[in-house]
Amino acid sequence: MTSFVLATANAHKALEIRSVLAEFGVEVADRPANIPEVDETANTLEGNALLKAQTICRWVGGPAIADDTGLFVDVLGGAPGVHSARYAGADASDVDNVNKLLSELLGVPSSQRRARFRTVIAVAYPDGTSLTVDGTIEGSILEEPRGDQGFGYDPVFAADDLNGRTLAEASATEKNSVSHRSRALGALAATLAR
Ligand code: IMP
Repeated sequence: MTSFVLATANAHKALEIRSVLAEFGVEVADRPANIPEVDETANTLEGNALLKAQTICRWVGGPAIADDTGLFVDVLGGAPGVHSARYAGADASDVDNVNKLLSELLGVPSSQRRARFRTVIAVAYPDGTSLTVDGTIEGSILEEPRGDQGFGYDPVFAADDLNGRTLAEASATEKNSVSHRSRALGALAATLAR
């Protein structure tokens, strides 16, 4: 059985990735602690996911998996996009980022607040080959946060697939049944099973 090393050091993400892929007989190992952080210098999710997967693959000498996610708001030309984690600055908290987003959208009517989360997952192999898959969830940005589950922009993202409830109003199980990340993972599992 092929074993993949995960580029993420985020325990929550690692658990989610491991549990989905285990159903498809894919084994996932944690990122070794001695590997330095990979700078996300690309300007696309694909570029950053590949950068992380290829770097980890070179370090461990085996196949590696990395993911990158962004929130894309149509009326803002796709911002915060690839910069979602640091939208309000290098050390921005989730609340800082949400507040910046709401202030950028001040006065924008609800019909023009369409947005989507997109996750790209990259796999890199030691022979230099790689692949990417993605997953998205469509919705719109509210004027005020709602709900206290989840993280990041969840409280202001009203998901079409949750009948307009925010991702922060959904349980973890509900969020996983519709989320960008779980859809990307499903695509990855299907690709690896081929
Ligand atoms: P990452 O690439 O998964 O680290 O995601 C980059 C940024 O996107 C995070 O810092 C969050 O602000 C945001 N983000 C990623 N996934 C989600 C999500 O499921 N809900 C809300 N925000 C998210």
